[in-house]
Amino acid sequence: MRIAVLGTGYVGLSTGVCLSEVGHHVICIDVDQQKINRLRQGISPIYEPGLESLLLKNTAAGKLHFTTSHQEGLEKAEIIIIAVGTPQSNDGAADLSYLVQAAKDVSAHLKPDAIVVIKSTVPVGTNDYVRSIIANHTKKPFKMVSNPEFLRQGSAIKDTMKADRIIIGSEDNEAALKIQEMYRPLNVPVLMTNVKSAEMIKYASNAFLATKISFINEIANLCEAVGANIIDVANGMGKDKRIGEAFLQAGIGYGGSCFPKDVKALLHTAGQYGVDFSLLKETISINESQRQLLVKKALERFQQLKGKKFAMLGLSFKPDTDDMREAPSIVISRLLHQAGAEVIAYDPVATENAKKVIGNTIQYAESVEEAIKNADALLLVTEWEEFKKLDLAEVTKQMKQPIIFDGRNSLAEDKIRACSKIEYYPVGKPSIV
Ligand code: NAD
Repeated sequence: MRIAVLGTGYVGLSTGVCLSEVGHHVICIDVDQQKINRLRQGISPIYEPGLESLLLKNTAAGKLHFTTSHQEGLEKAEIIIIAVGTPQSNDGAADLSYLVQAAKDVSAHLKPDAIVVIKSTVPVGTNDYVRSIIANHTKKPFKMVSNPEFLRQGSAIKDTMKADRIIIGSEDNEAALKIQEMYRPLNVPVLMTNVKSAEMIKYASNAFLATKISFINEIANLCEAVGANIIDVANGMGKDKRIGEAFLQAGIGYGGSCFPKDVKALLHTAGQYGVDFSLLKETISINESQRQLLVKKALERFQQLKGKKFAMLGLSFKPDTDDMREAPSIVISRLLHQAGAEVIAYDPVATENAKKVIGNTIQYAESVEEAIKNADALLLVTEWEEFKKLDLAEVTKQMKQPIIFDGRNSLAEDKIRACSKIEYYPVGKPSIV
């Protein structure tokens, strides 16, 4: 099939690359000339494991193309997948301005009878809204399908190729079947729904997962208060099939480009329909306070933070991505800076993006060694594999005092105990002092 993808971000690029890998002819369109230039040279503009090799392979095979021209990208496409951003606007609602522009771009160059697929995360009713925008701008016939995306950054290729399910929402059976056919090579279970249910499935899924995270974080805080151990508690809970083991890792809160904005957008939708979804308000407020946890723990330990030097390990909102959107490291950096502390941070891939968001209120190191040198404390903020394998004897030697606040419970306790000098403050389980 001939497919056009609008937007070469985490979702659009992963989708385009994977659809070309399974045999389709894909052209990816972006308004960002720099991104397209890099993609044409076979360089991925985002860090995503496995993406670049598939990009090179399918570009070389002539199945994957990149352009900034909507006309070139759309004129032959029988399926048009819209994967542009839907960030949060000031009132918490989803900002649909990129989507509206994309709809206008589509209407200008649409091939008659093309199927327009909305993959971006959009509030209930948006597919109908986009349909009306396109219909107002062109007389050509077209069909609409809602096909929300569930991939996770850091495992986007695997998640696309081996998704748990594909949701296809449409009021047009023929269009829905064609999109099912497009995905057939992936051999993934497909669920057909109406458009509004498809739109809701995406928000309900993300809001549920975010709530699961806030729930386990509150249990972790309670574990600390009563002397229980969150690792054992989560393990015991997760063995219950009704609960499941995923998303029970206590830590310093969720971040990223999806959970924070999607929970707020769903709350906004609820408000518009007069539904008081107070559970979501709590999910958000627990998460906001959890992001401050390491700073609170540091304050408890040191009494005052002015002049203290903190090594921050990890900047991205989670490992295996360079994405800084809503990363807890942003809040931690701000609080430490306000308290007069010095921060020197290291991340394996997110430093350049972090500089754009956090700026020069903190310093950036090129290695763990550089970050921890003479530090008063180490804050483990993102659970990169590299940090789990830290040589703690070396850490003890390099730091001014070996005090570790582990926001992701990623260091093995037996290794900590083997280094008798380390003071260790994890989340939801007893400290080692
Ligand atoms: P992104 O910001 O990384 O990428 C969006 C891209 O769209 C940018 O490159 C931008 O230049 C391009 N763009 C904007 N307007 C355009 C237009 N008119 N024509 C062509 N290109 C245009 O966004 P993302 O993280 O890939 O997310 C895209 C959507 O998917 C959002 O709705 C998001 O909520 C949803 N989603 C994201 C994830 C994730 O993990 N990132 C997962 C599931 C769903």
